[in-house]
Amino acid sequence: MTLIVTGGSRGIGASTARLAAEHGWDVCLSYRSNENAAAEVVEDCRRHGTRAIAVRADVTITSDIVVLFDLAESELGPLRGLVNNAGIVGHRALVRDYESGRTERIFATNVLGAFRCAQEAVRRFAGSGVIVNVSSRAAALGSPGEYVDYAASKAAVDTMTIGLAREVAKDGIRVNAVRPGLIDTDIHASGGQPDRIIALADSVPMGRGGSGNEVAEAVVWLLSDKASYVTGTLLDVSGGR
Ligand code: NAP
Repeated sequence: MTLIVTGGSRGIGASTARLAAEHGWDVCLSYRSNENAAAEVVEDCRRHGTRAIAVRADVTITSDIVVLFDLAESELGPLRGLVNNAGIVGHRALVRDYESGRTERIFATNVLGAFRCAQEAVRRFAGSGVIVNVSSRAAALGSPGEYVDYAASKAAVDTMTIGLAREVAKDGIRVNAVRPGLIDTDIHASGGQPDRIIALADSVPMGRGGSGNEVAEAVVWLLSDKASYVTGTLLDVSGGR
């Protein structure tokens, strides 16, 4: 069973790749630039006795996506799963102050990248397959004063999840999303807020940020046959936030 995890070199994607391997998936993870981190995740996956490869593929480049899917199938076998995880945030800013090109970059990765990967997956799933999109609770919260554009990009992912799920349900394909809350990964530092989890922990009903593994558990369940009657669902993994 071949699974592609986009952005599998770090954070939630890396946790998902490792846990999916533990559950028997052969994993093809993609990354944008961090080759060493990707290689470490591949090694961890292989320790579970499954096959794993890493492919440098930028989800904003359509030809990279085609190469990613081609390599996954030629090296590991027919595709059965996709975790649309690669995503970026912008720096904390008011909408009126965004620098030029910022929103386009976020939408190119989070929306168009996810959309094209989903498209490529449903074209290749032969009779059965499963997609899990990594959205965000931001889609519902809107992220005012932080990154409204990021939140809006994840709302687009939610809508794509619902529409595509209903479109392909009779083709043996399930499509769901997880919506993580505050998860302890590098993404906050990349958005200029390395202490964001600590700063916002009190806003979480459970009083803490979550881990990549806690999100991965939900993703791997949605990938599995245990979730065989679940499609078009947005599963919040957010400590109640
Ligand atoms: P992260 O730690 O910053 O990791 C991002 C991953 O995505 C890396 O593997 C990175 O590759 C890859 N990536 C970024 N841009 C890419 C591109 N254009 N093409 C291919 N790969 C790309 O992020 P994370 O926190 O794990 O976030 C993963 C997903 O969860 C994102 O969609 C994010 O929006 C969502 N999410 C995160 C949180 C949170 O609190 N952390 C909350 C809600 C939703 P390199 O290693 O090569 O840079």
